[in-house]
Amino acid sequence: MRKRCSGKCPGTPEPGATTQTFERHGSPVKVTIHRIPAAVCPLCHEAYVSRETGRQIDVLLEPFHGKHGHIPALPAAEVTIDFAEATAASQAA
Ligand SMILES: [Zn+2]
Repeated sequence: MRKRCSGKCPGTPEPGATTQTFERHGSPVKVTIHRIPAAVCPLCHEAYVSRETGRQIDVLLEPFHGKHGHIPALPAAEVTIDFAEATAASQAA
């Protein structure tokens, strides 16, 4: 876990959760993921996501945003994912 916030912010990030929206150039799908575990700075509210969590986010985004330059042909949509539920489901499978 991060000990210090970035740049000039003197805040110390604390364990929490964040909501982030992901858009990809060329993709018509906007994906919002709730309850992403993150270290959140109490001063500037910057959220820091661990490498492992980032990898899980990539897995969640892949059906919508594709990978390696291949973007799935999907209709324009806004998708909402609950990170905690989505990752619990994948672990149970
Ligand atoms: Zn900060």
